[in-house]
Amino acid sequence: MNTPSLASLSLTELRKLMQTWGLPAFRAQQVLDWRNKGILDLNAMKNIPTAVKVTLEENIQVQPLQLVSKQKSNDGTRKYLFALNRAGQAKKYIETVFIPEESRGTVCISSQAGCVLDCPFCHTGTQKFEGNLTAAEIVAQVLAVKADLLADSMMNGLYPHVSHIVYMGMGEPLANEHEVFQSLSLLMATDYLHLSRRRITLSTSGLLPQIERLGKDFPVNLAISLHSAINEHRNILVPINQKYDLISLRKCLNAYPLAKSRHITLEYVMLQDVNDTEESLQALIKFVTPERERVNLIRFNSYPGSIYQGSATSVINKFAKTLISKGIRATVRRSRGDDIMAACGQLKTVKLGE
Ligand code: SAH
Ligand code: SF4
Repeated sequence: MNTPSLASLSLTELRKLMQTWGLPAFRAQQVLDWRNKGILDLNAMKNIPTAVKVTLEENIQVQPLQLVSKQKSNDGTRKYLFALNRAGQAKKYIETVFIPEESRGTVCISSQAGCVLDCPFCHTGTQKFEGNLTAAEIVAQVLAVKADLLADSMMNGLYPHVSHIVYMGMGEPLANEHEVFQSLSLLMATDYLHLSRRRITLSTSGLLPQIERLGKDFPVNLAISLHSAINEHRNILVPINQKYDLISLRKCLNAYPLAKSRHITLEYVMLQDVNDTEESLQALIKFVTPERERVNLIRFNSYPGSIYQGSATSVINKFAKTLISKGIRATVRRSRGDDIMAACGQLKTVKLGE
């Protein structure tokens, strides 16, 4: 994967390439102006001469992703299925979700095709792992959503732009550290997508050395898939806990640098009779540091063949109420795009023709 990709080139890099191709360097800025809007389709770049387009096509990767399908949910959520454009390789698929609200538009991006970590309640975990995405493939998901919002604008008063990014799609972002860090740098670059660290959230099952490095290099908002504050239970629900247990996780979270008035999010998927008991609730209360952390209770999103059942709404509400009464910020995550299997943990690509 050494071919440079339009989705990840900086202005300096593209200017240099233009020069080596014997083309005027100012074309680099023109091409990147389109790219930064989300447009990677050379045909749509109106002010770019054919000679430049042909040279780009021949020498660099222009489109890292190919849109296979797009589904729209009743609530405005959009789910995209992309095939990775990798020459000479069997097709691999990933999914991206756009979640519009009144005053923000969030892109949920994938960082790997599948996941090796095998959390037993997660649909992605049941899929065969097919490898890490490149930084270009990660960022191109955001570009594709931007382009789609230009072509098919958002209705019903929902926010029609990309304002926030969450690394909560397929895969464990910190198991693909190098490319994910590179993608963060592209998302934050002032002359590219220019998103502040406060608008980016990375969700991880808890790879501690990587979290530490993230805090040093790209201190974005952090979300941790906690799901239980009892070691024996978490060992099963989030198997990486067998390597990095709750005591080490606690130390790591205490050291994570927070942006002003921001909190670490502890994600807790509510599973009936598994982690929704009184004992689990008490352990959770003991684990949380209320000044620095908040709890996001997640409704279990079911999928065909899953062995778990979601907790009853009354149990979820009791958890939320009790946490709040102890001075802990707690919210219940609204499930979005459920009707198109776009909700958390439901992402699993179904290969066409199989
Ligand atoms: N690998 C990362 C990010 C992707 S998963 C991680 O585990 O944090 C994003 C969130 O969805 C995680 O909190 C994950 O635990 C949760 N999730 C996975 N499967 C789910 C399901 N079936 N229902 C609800 N949430 C789920
Ligand atoms: Fe991987 Fe996250 Fe799913 Fe666990 S919850 S299998 S880490 S994607």
